Amino acid sequence: MDTIDPKFRLAVFSTKKYDIAHLQPELDRAKIPTTFLQTRLDDETVPLAEGYPAICIFVNDELSASGIELLAGKGLRFVLLRCAGFNNVDLTAAAKHGVRVARVPAYSPYAVAEFAVGLMLMLNRNLHKAYTRVRTGNFSLEGLTGFDMYRKRIGIVGTGKIGRLTGKICNGFGAEVVCYDPFPNVELAAEAGMTYVGLDELLASCDIVSLHCPLMPSTFHMINNESLEKMKNGVMIINTSRGGLIDTQALIKHLKTGKIGQVGMDVYENESGLYFEDTSDDVLQDDAFSRLLTFHNVCITGHQAFLTREALSNIAATTVQNILDLLEGKTPSSIVTAENP
Ligand code: NAD
Repeated sequence: MDTIDPKFRLAVFSTKKYDIAHLQPELDRAKIPTTFLQTRLDDETVPLAEGYPAICIFVNDELSASGIELLAGKGLRFVLLRCAGFNNVDLTAAAKHGVRVARVPAYSPYAVAEFAVGLMLMLNRNLHKAYTRVRTGNFSLEGLTGFDMYRKRIGIVGTGKIGRLTGKICNGFGAEVVCYDPFPNVELAAEAGMTYVGLDELLASCDIVSLHCPLMPSTFHMINNESLEKMKNGVMIINTSRGGLIDTQALIKHLKTGKIGQVGMDVYENESGLYFEDTSDDVLQDDAFSRLLTFHNVCITGHQAFLTREALSNIAATTVQNILDLLEGKTPSSIVTAENP
């Protein structure tokens, strides 16, 4: 595109240093005037976005129907999600007000898949405990016994890009990898060394259950009291997808009884407003989260599975290309609509 309308300006919300480091060069190359804001976008902060034709938001920003209505009235045309998920934007309201929403469908499935397997290994071999023990001069091995991944049964829920890669890596351990997806792709799953089974069979038979499906009304709390009852005693649950897939109260209940062996979670259902910030000087108000932190067999990370140099570069490049395409009146393949997300 030769020139950008001088009135065009992009506001980037929830900006961190690592975002600027990767986005700025791409935006400069495309000559897109940009304001970086550290603020998280929600109904309270939405007036900060007034007058910008385009805004760029991340996973825990929230753009509600009323926010879209307000901003559309002030000239908002494009919402650029610098993530794959889009559950945080009211797509129906966006369509109603002619606001186009584009995302970054795949920036590095490797980053997330490798992280999911990292959590499995950390929990299995108790690396989180060993790290702190050795630093305090405690070289006892008591309580650090793990299990061979070889020949364990690992269940992948959701066989999209990340699920398939996670399955493929697990195959490298010589594990038996089974999977479930309501929209199966038998050929691609077979390439990753995975076999489809029903969800109930997966839950009942796997030593490790790893979640890789999107958060939607149909998947909200898919891991709940009922599904946890079906699982093997001592099961390990890994969630690098979206926190809302797991009912936290049910998880705590089954951790207390010992039914669940280990939990690795990079995402948490009430992470919005908590994650991505340094809150170490504040009193933690979330009692369920506090309880989760007390379990020695739960590893929580703050939504960092995506965070590799390669992923950040891809996010920046795709986001800027989305803007250029939208400005030229094209429909990027990464457009999301209420009818066809
Ligand atoms: P994808 O769209 O490629 O695959 C998702 C798969 O889930 C699809 O095959 C879909 O058919 C399947 N699915 C839909 N409903 C399902 C259900 N009820 N049960 C089982 N499977 C179902 O997505 P992806 O790129 O592989 O991403 C997977 C998840 O990872 C998404 O939730 C995304 O938000 C999350 N994610 C997390 C991070 C992070 O940093 N933690 C980064 C990127 C993506």
